[in-house]
Amino acid sequence: MSYHAGRHFLQIPGPTNVPDRVLRAIDFPTMDHRGPDFAALGKACLSGMKKVFQTEAHVVIYPASGTGAWEAALVNTLSPGDKVLMYETGQFATLWQKLAARLGLDAEFMGGDWRHGADPAAIQSRLEQDKGQAIKAVCVVHNETSTGVTSRIAEVRKAIDAAKHPALLLVDTISSLASIDYRHDEWGVDVTVAGSQKGLMLPPGLSFNAISEKALAASGSAKLPRSYWAWDEMLASGKTGYFPYTPATNLLYGLREALDMLFEEGLQNVFARHDRHAEATRRAVRAWGLEVLALNPAEYSSALTTVMTPAGVNADAVRKTILEHFDMSLGTGLGKLAGKVFRIGHLGDFNDLTLMGTLAGVEMGLQLAGVKIKPAGVQAAMDCLAEAHRKAPGAVRAAA
Ligand SMILES: *Cc1c(COP(=O)(O)O)cnc(C)c1O
Repeated sequence: MSYHAGRHFLQIPGPTNVPDRVLRAIDFPTMDHRGPDFAALGKACLSGMKKVFQTEAHVVIYPASGTGAWEAALVNTLSPGDKVLMYETGQFATLWQKLAARLGLDAEFMGGDWRHGADPAAIQSRLEQDKGQAIKAVCVVHNETSTGVTSRIAEVRKAIDAAKHPALLLVDTISSLASIDYRHDEWGVDVTVAGSQKGLMLPPGLSFNAISEKALAASGSAKLPRSYWAWDEMLASGKTGYFPYTPATNLLYGLREALDMLFEEGLQNVFARHDRHAEATRRAVRAWGLEVLALNPAEYSSALTTVMTPAGVNADAVRKTILEHFDMSLGTGLGKLAGKVFRIGHLGDFNDLTLMGTLAGVEMGLQLAGVKIKPAGVQAAMDCLAEAHRKAPGAVRAAA
């Protein structure tokens, strides 16, 4: 492989670009995870993650990809044969449903069109039909990374309450946490699943569960086999800042640094930044004359935008052109969207000018690939950003 000057643009919706501060924090001698210095690191990571989940409840950290934390959420709360209601928002919801079925759960999948989030009204009426309360959990993906569509979790909670149903609410925030406003406690979520390599700006390798008291109580009688994922020993060790088995120590150094960065910027500012970049991206897409996959503006994702290519244009050929000419990786179409869409990740360590570089690469790439577009997207995005800066005094640097 020859040297490519400048930084590669890793604009897939995760893993995201890892900032230098985090890389430097990881590049530190591994310490004894049972030694006296470790507790401060473990405690800082756990308490910082509680702030990010917006919860006072329990948090566990696994040395695992997000898929591990999916499994953990299910095996800690459910028993073999339990019925769970899962909502088909896209490819990630589909994978979670498959995982649940493989664990021996009766995983009912409510069909969706991959252009909308989970429908709270449909969930409510399904729960109202469940007179015997056989459904033990409702599982929803907050930000469906295959489509760029979010689900309205607060409304899903209200739907469960309106149906007077005791099911647990399990939510995947792997690609939304620390990018899109998310409130574990306020929204009454029982288990939130998260991962390190998206909004948290870390390499892959850590994942998380935030656990309500109700979920913890359910774990007392849940019968699915579990050992590595078991919450009890994790929570017991966590009280003192330690782990029952070897944690991913160097990733925890990175997590502590990433949490500091998020709090320095302020979580609300982080969310506003993602909202701004998503809006500018959608303006660019429309100015090109292309279509965003998400149909409901209330469900637009601020972490990524999925762009539909015109009929007859293979989206992967466009991605290949962009990678070859401009050293930028965009997300591929997953599952039934293969070849039909590409995904622009605008989450994590990302600013206005990284967005403009990204959109310039997409605009040039679309033209090079022979796609008929109006070359007006970059300008539309710049106008959008300029307007946002005029309106809000949101200078990224305070005056000296
Ligand atoms: C990335 C992602 C996953 C899978 O996480 P892994 O770390 O690849 O196991 C699951 N759900 C969502 C919404 C994701 O974005």
